[in-house]
Amino acid sequence: MIKKVLIANRGEIALRIVRACNELGIKTLCVYSEADEQSLHVQLADEAICIGPPPSNLSYLKADRIIAAAEIANVDAIHPGYGFLAENADFAEQCENCKIKFIGPSSAAIVDFGDKSRAREMAVKAKVPVIPGSKGTVDNEKDALSEAERIGFPVIIKAVAGGGGKGMRIAHSAVSFMKEYNSARNEAEKAFGNGAVYIEKYLEAPRHIEIQILGDRFGNVIHLGERDCSVQRRHQKVIEEAPSPFISADTRKKMGRDAVKLAKSVKYEGAGTIEFLMDEKQNYYFIEMNTRIQVEHGVTEEVTGVDLVKEQLLIASGQKLSYEQKEIQFLRHAIECRVCAEDPSRNFAPCPGEIGLYYSPGGHGVRIDSHVYSGYIIPPYYDSMIAKVMTFGKTRELALDRMDRALGEYLIRGIKTNIPFNRAIIRDPIFRSGKATTKFIEEFIERVPKDIYT
Ligand code: ADP
Repeated sequence: MIKKVLIANRGEIALRIVRACNELGIKTLCVYSEADEQSLHVQLADEAICIGPPPSNLSYLKADRIIAAAEIANVDAIHPGYGFLAENADFAEQCENCKIKFIGPSSAAIVDFGDKSRAREMAVKAKVPVIPGSKGTVDNEKDALSEAERIGFPVIIKAVAGGGGKGMRIAHSAVSFMKEYNSARNEAEKAFGNGAVYIEKYLEAPRHIEIQILGDRFGNVIHLGERDCSVQRRHQKVIEEAPSPFISADTRKKMGRDAVKLAKSVKYEGAGTIEFLMDEKQNYYFIEMNTRIQVEHGVTEEVTGVDLVKEQLLIASGQKLSYEQKEIQFLRHAIECRVCAEDPSRNFAPCPGEIGLYYSPGGHGVRIDSHVYSGYIIPPYYDSMIAKVMTFGKTRELALDRMDRALGEYLIRGIKTNIPFNRAIIRDPIFRSGKATTKFIEEFIERVPKDIYT
C-alpha cells in the first residue's frame, strides 16, 4: 500500500485528494506556488513545500521541481489531479524512471490518448464508432481543404494536443476554411506548443455524453455509467449530471460496453473517461479519452456510491478493483454546477480578488467541493473555478430542486460569480425538460434577458 503521496495540484482537487488519503491513512505532501500559501489544501496536508512563483509554468508545471520535492520528502507516489501535468506523458515517464508511482495510466497510454488524432485511431482499431474525419493530422492548407471537402461542411478543426476547448475552430464552407484552419493551428501552437490539427465533421447540436471507467493492472475494467455534460460555454462544461435525461437503458449498456472494450484494448490502468458526442437518434461517436480524474467525477460518486479517488489510490497501490461490474448500481440522480469567479455581465470575465463573507450551502442531498473560505484571496493566475456544488436525490426533479435551493443559499461576497447564471439554467424549462444540447447556453443567452442571471 502507498504510504505517502505528493499532490501535484491546487484548489479543490488537491483538497479532494488530501481527503481521500486521510481516509486511507496515507500521508500527504502538497506542493504549492507562492500564490497558494493560504489555500486550504496546503493547510490540511501533512507537509507542504513551496515550489515556485505564482505563474504555473514556474511552479505547477515544473516537473523537475516536483520530482525533487518528491525525492526530498520520500514519497512513493504522485497524484497529478486534473490539468497541469495530469496528461503529460513526459512527466509520467520521469516518475516511472525515478521509481515514483504516477497515479494514472502508464506513460505509453498517455501518449496514445494524449494525441487526439491518434486516440481516434485507437478507437477505430477497437471498433468503437468515431465521427467521420481526417485520417491523421492535416499538415498543409491544400491537404486540409481537400480533406474538409471530402468530409463535407460544416467541419471542426481540432488541435491534436487540445484541451479545455482551446484550438478548435468551425468552418461552415470552403470560403472560411483557410482562416479557421490557420487560427486553430496558431492557437494550438500558443496554448500547447504543438500546432498539429485534424478535422472532424461538425455535428450541429449534439449531446456530450461520457463514460467513467476504472481499470486495474490485472486487466479488469469496469464502467460506472455516463455523465451528460451537454451544458457548455465555449466548449467548456458548466453543468454535468447523471444519469443522462436523454439516453435509453439500451444505449447506456452499449456505450458502457464500448468504453470497457476500448480501455481493455490498451490494458488501461486507473480512472479514465471516454467522451462521446451523440446525435438525436442516440447514435454516439468517440471524441477523446481523458486519462485522469475529471472535474465532474463527484457526480458519478454520488450516483454509484463509489469513491473514485480512493479507487485510484488503491489501484496505484497494486490492488484489484474493489468492485465487479455487476456491483455497480445507479442509485439516484446527481447534478453538478461549476462555480466560477467570473462576471456574467461582462462576458464572463474572470473576477479574482478577496472573498468577504463566505457561506456555503448544506443540508440533505448537497455536497460542496471547494478550497475557499471567508477572507480567501482568489489569485488571478489560475482557472476561475472556485467550487463545485453537487446535489442528488431519488429523481432528477428532486436533484434539480435541491440545486436551485442550494444555489439560493450560497453566499460569496466581495467578488462576482456565475451562481445566478447557473441558477437561471437550473430553473429554465428547456433545461428542466432534459432537452439541452451543446448549443443550449448559446441559445439561452440569446433568449433570456441578461438581468435574470447577472
Ligand atoms: P477538449 O479536449 O478541448 O475539451 P473535446 O474534443 O473534448 O475538446 O470537445 C469539447 C467540446 O467541443 C465537445 O463536448 C463538443 O461540445 C464540442 N465538439 C468537439 N468535437 C465536435 C464535433 N465534431 N462536432 C460538434 N461539436 C464538437
